[in-house]
Amino acid sequence: MKPAAFDYVRLEDEAQACDLLARHGDEARILAGGQSLITVLNMRLAQPSVLLDVSRCEALDYVKVAGRMLEVGAAATQASVEWRPDLAAEVPLLACAFPYISHFQVRNRGTVCGSVAHADPSAELPLCLALLGGEVVLSSRRGRRTLAARDFFQGMLTTARAGDELIACVRYPLRVAGTGYAFEEFSLRHGDFAIAACAAAVSRDVIRLGVGGVADRPTVVQWPRLPKPELETAINDFAWTLGAQDDAHASAAYRRRLVRQLAARAIATAASRTQGDTQ
Ligand SMILES: Cc1cc2nc3c(=O)[nH]c(=O)nc-3n(C[C@H](O)[C@H](O)[C@H](O)COP(=O)(O)OP(=O)(O)OC[C@H]3O[C@@H](n4cnc5c(N)ncnc54)[C@H](O)[C@@H]3O)c2cc1C
Repeated sequence: MKPAAFDYVRLEDEAQACDLLARHGDEARILAGGQSLITVLNMRLAQPSVLLDVSRCEALDYVKVAGRMLEVGAAATQASVEWRPDLAAEVPLLACAFPYISHFQVRNRGTVCGSVAHADPSAELPLCLALLGGEVVLSSRRGRRTLAARDFFQGMLTTARAGDELIACVRYPLRVAGTGYAFEEFSLRHGDFAIAACAAAVSRDVIRLGVGGVADRPTVVQWPRLPKPELETAINDFAWTLGAQDDAHASAAYRRRLVRQLAARAIATAASRTQGDTQ
C-alpha cells in the first residue's frame, strides 16, 4: 500500500521542530528512522499532513556521557550507540540488549529515541530505559521537561508525550559499580520482536527485574536479594501480575512460563557479573 499524500520538512534544529509541532499539532509526525512509521503510513493507520524529518538534524545527532547518564539525541541511530567502543563499560545492559533488536539494517536506520517514542511493549530499548530508571527529555515551545521512564510509558504504543513535543534526547544511567546486568529474550526467530524479554540488574542488596512483551508496557519490580526458593516464588507471583494474554504468537500460560525461566536466568547471570567487581 502507499501512504496518503503529505508535506515533508527536513528539520534543521530543535527550535524549528518545536515551532512546526506547535503549528501543526497532531497533523504533524516526526520521521526518525522510519522503521516503524513508514509501515504505519503505508497501511494508512496514520495520515499526517506533514512529516518532520529529524534524521539529518546534525545538532540532534549525538551520543555523549553527561554526568552519570549516557545521553542519546533524537537523530542518533541505534547503531551509533551499539558500536560505541566503551558501551559495555558505560551501559552494559544496552550492550547485552542490542543484538536482540531486529537485524543490523534496521538498527542502522532506526533511532533510539524513535524506539522509545513508538513504545512497543516488546521493544528492547524502552525495557532497558525502564529497568535502569532512565529519563526522556521532551521539548516544545513551552520549554523542556524531563520525565522518568516509569511515567513516560503509559500503555501499548502510548506515552506521556504531548502532540507538540519532540523527544529531544533520552538518558540511560551509566553502570553502577558492584552491579551486574543481563538481558534474556525469547522470540520465534532471531531478530523478531520478543514474545517475552527480561532485563536484570543485581547488586549486593537489590534485584531489579524488568519484563517486556507481556504487559502493555515495560514493567519493573525490585526485591532485596532473596534465597532461591523465595526468589522463584517472587518471580512466579510477578509473572501473574503482568496480565499476559493469549494471542496468535503464544498463550498467556506460555508467556508466564517464559517469564519464570528468562527472569531466573537473567538474575543469575547478572548476579554472577557482580562477582569480583570491587570498583
Ligand atoms: C523488520 C523490522 C524488525 C524490527 N524488529 C524490532 C525488534 O526486534 N525490536 C525492536 O525494539 N524494534 C524492532 N523494530 C523497530 C525498530 O527498532 C524501529 O527503528 C523503532 O521502533 C522506531 O525507530 P525509528 O527511528 O525508525 O522511528 P520512526 O519509525 O521514524 O518513528 C516511530 C514513531 O516514533 C515517533 N518519533 C520518532 N522519533 C521521535 C522523536 N524524537 N520525538 C517524537 N516522536 C518521535 C514517530 O513520529 C513515529 O510515531 C523493527 C523494525 C523493522 C522494520
